Amino acid sequence: MGTISAEPRRGSRAGFDVERVRGQFPALAQSINGQPLAYLDSAATSQKPRAVLDALSAYYEHDNANVHRGIHELSRRATIAFEDARGTVARWVNAAEPAEVIWTRGTTEALNLVAMAWGLDNVEEGDEILISVLEHHSNIVPWQLLAQRRRAKLRYIEIDEQGRLVLDDLSRLLTERTKIVAISHVSNALGTINPIERVVDAAHDAGAVVVVDGAQGAVHTPVDVQALGADFYAFSGHKMCAPTGIGVLWGRRDLLEAMSPYQGGGEMISVVEREQSTWAAIPHKFEAGTPNIAGAIGMGVAIDFLAEIGMEAIVEHEQDLLSYALERLRPIPDIRIFGPDSLSERSAVVSFTLGDAHPHDISTILDSAGVAVRAGHHCAQLVMKHFGVSSTARASFYLYNNRDDVDRLVAGLAQVSAIFA
Ligand code: PLP
Repeated sequence: MGTISAEPRRGSRAGFDVERVRGQFPALAQSINGQPLAYLDSAATSQKPRAVLDALSAYYEHDNANVHRGIHELSRRATIAFEDARGTVARWVNAAEPAEVIWTRGTTEALNLVAMAWGLDNVEEGDEILISVLEHHSNIVPWQLLAQRRRAKLRYIEIDEQGRLVLDDLSRLLTERTKIVAISHVSNALGTINPIERVVDAAHDAGAVVVVDGAQGAVHTPVDVQALGADFYAFSGHKMCAPTGIGVLWGRRDLLEAMSPYQGGGEMISVVEREQSTWAAIPHKFEAGTPNIAGAIGMGVAIDFLAEIGMEAIVEHEQDLLSYALERLRPIPDIRIFGPDSLSERSAVVSFTLGDAHPHDISTILDSAGVAVRAGHHCAQLVMKHFGVSSTARASFYLYNNRDDVDRLVAGLAQVSAIFA
């Protein structure tokens, strides 16, 4: 449980067997409305492999205890598994050391942590925070809250007609007042893969700190935080085969050490006195209270599972599915597909509308055929506004989807077209 993985194996698609992968996800082996489930909503949350489910019950059945607090056997076991999982995450994203990995509830909490801890300490009246129109609300609202509290200014990188960042005027948007640039690695609404390195270089030249929302990036690309060069990278376990309620903030040691705590409570202190306290070393300074121990252990197991298959093999499989899906979807009359035209600029998400059918109706009709897709604004209302729509339907693919899932989606959309004809 929570074993330390070797170097993430990149793997090649030659050895990738999607049916074998599917077989490891019990939730996929069910019928919905009398049809086999085609789960195309992994951008919202992924299904969980048997290894993760087993690790959760094994933890609760045998090792359940609080971490770092007891000297009894169960607490020792729980602490070792919990810290091993941190090491697994650190190796997975190539962090310099496990202490740079902070457990959070997910991407949202990780981004709020940076905004409220680093941000409140470093952003002053008149300073600027640069984000983009492409962001999930989790990477907008915390910066709005910070800007309001500090009377700072929020500025936006625009997106073009294909939903790609417009970076030509980046040097104009970055000023000597820019303190933070917060940008998503991969868009959940459109699948756009952003050129993070380019943003990081320009932001650092301007003296700004770079925060990457990796909620989709960590799922769909191998992540090397040192190579990316950003200062913080946030991601969620539940989108990458781990349980809900666990996520990670990776941050550079020097920044984390200089930051004030985000929350106060047990485990994050060194000494508590009547008037004041001193803080534990990182990562514990940012982990007040009892953490999601089982979730962290489950995340370590999920990463081992993904590493065993190999990220390169997974990405290749997803790109193959995406290409097949676009090839089958593009000829559908009245379909409008959002996001970059080029496969190399997008990951396995297809956001679309179909004629006059409301995305909620599309999703309901697809559900009656056993096909699960998302409908709504995908927590990206600025993206919807940019394209002049209030919502889209979104099919998202992951390692366990196959071409049959795509065919079922296409057949379901034929039903939608027939109903709305
Ligand atoms: N950022 C992006 C790009 C996302 O896709 C999501 C979740 O959909 C989030 C942030 C928020 O993640 P969580 O709800 O796991 O905190």
